Amino acid sequence: MISHYDVIIIGAGAAGLMCAMTAGQRGRKVLVIERANKIGKKILMSGGGRCNFTNLNIEANHYISHNPHFCKSALSQYTQWNFIKLVEDHGIAYHEKEMEGGEPGQLFCNDSAKQIVEMLSSECDKAKVKIITKCEIKNVSQDNNNLFQLICNNKKYSSESLVISSGGLSIPTLGGSDIGYRIAKQFGLNSYELRASLVPLIFTDCLKTLCSDLSGLSIIATVSTANKSFTGNLLFTHRGLSGPSILQLSNYWQIGESIDIDLSPNIDLAKYLNEFKLQSPKSALRTSLSKILPKQLVSQLEFLYWHELKDTKFADIRNKRLDGIASQLHRWTIKPAGSEGYRTAEVTLGGIDTDGISSKTMQAKTQRALFFIGEVLDVTGHLGGYNFQWAWSSGFVAGKAV
Ligand SMILES: Cc1cc2nc3c(=O)[nH]c(=O)nc-3n(C[C@H](O)[C@H](O)[C@H](O)COP(=O)(O)OP(=O)(O)OC[C@H]3O[C@@H](n4cnc5c(N)ncnc54)[C@H](O)[C@@H]3O)c2cc1C
Repeated sequence: MISHYDVIIIGAGAAGLMCAMTAGQRGRKVLVIERANKIGKKILMSGGGRCNFTNLNIEANHYISHNPHFCKSALSQYTQWNFIKLVEDHGIAYHEKEMEGGEPGQLFCNDSAKQIVEMLSSECDKAKVKIITKCEIKNVSQDNNNLFQLICNNKKYSSESLVISSGGLSIPTLGGSDIGYRIAKQFGLNSYELRASLVPLIFTDCLKTLCSDLSGLSIIATVSTANKSFTGNLLFTHRGLSGPSILQLSNYWQIGESIDIDLSPNIDLAKYLNEFKLQSPKSALRTSLSKILPKQLVSQLEFLYWHELKDTKFADIRNKRLDGIASQLHRWTIKPAGSEGYRTAEVTLGGIDTDGISSKTMQAKTQRALFFIGEVLDVTGHLGGYNFQWAWSSGFVAGKAV
């Protein structure tokens, strides 16, 4: 016995659920198949449990893709304002998070990310969408009538349209899988190289000890690669560096590349240190730096870079040396050994080449009625609600077309 549907969607994450409710509202008979024991697991874990569900400033320049124009059509067909209205219609209270130096416009639930999953689930119920959990799709095929055929838990399913919303590789325990890339290949679509992103960076040299000793400490810093800079919170962890500024940078950082950190982006340190020397010639360098940077960080940097000045009075440090220290603190160049990888990465960078996909509907150009949405595509957002907005927008346009 084969159960037939108009549309089958693989993956009940953000994109799949949005696509399902949109198609269901159009009267399509929809089945969503999810391998986890419950739907929307990443939504539940997102934004520290409060889900940063969109951003007030959604624009294409917040997305990384080999085709930077691809995301524009979907983002304009279903905007942040459409999603905000849905959230408001469901009575979910939300707020914009104020963050010093961080990404502006981030919207979070006041109470819980669970409300977003409940909202999507109730919209799916209303639209008579059927959802099956604990059912892993291993492969798909097509019969002679061009219907898609799937088998899971020993049951056979078929559909006219098939939507792949299986996400990327990040956090396997929350659903990360490669099925979407395999199905893309099966139907003649290319994929770009995949990489863990929005992810902490790690160190293996003496900086690992420094980071570990400072673990839990956070400062405002500007972090840069050769062509991208972000200002915001930087967090020292047991293995390296994290926090919003580092996560943002990880979208751009290449393995083997050094990063520059401005530890004092708001204060001109050369000026500050020279003035301090004039006013307090008998005090130590450490004393002046500890007024603008955490004391533990100053001690660690002193140990690594100017240990010989530990007991020297300010008056005895030459201005040139002070200027050198100031510029090192404004441009602390360090080389991460790698990233924490898919175990903790919020997203997968790269993915299915959008050249093979219609930007208006997300339908594959090589295969009628096959759609790819969300993170599985080569579209990755900055930190700040951009990835969920991509999932909502791409899910919506496919839901209108399936
Ligand atoms: C910890 C964490 C926090 C995050 N916080 C935010 C945030 O606050 N704001 C933001 O914008 N983005 C955030 N993100 C990123 C965001 O969660 C993703 O970009 C988004 O969930 C992608 O949606 P998706 O539907 O494409 O994929 P997913 O949400 O990953 O959904 C894919 C679904 O497919 C299922 N699946 C996979 N393979 C199979 C298979 N073979 N058979 C059946 N089902 C399968 C998975 O179990 C999963 O449920 C966060 C990510 C993580 C990991």
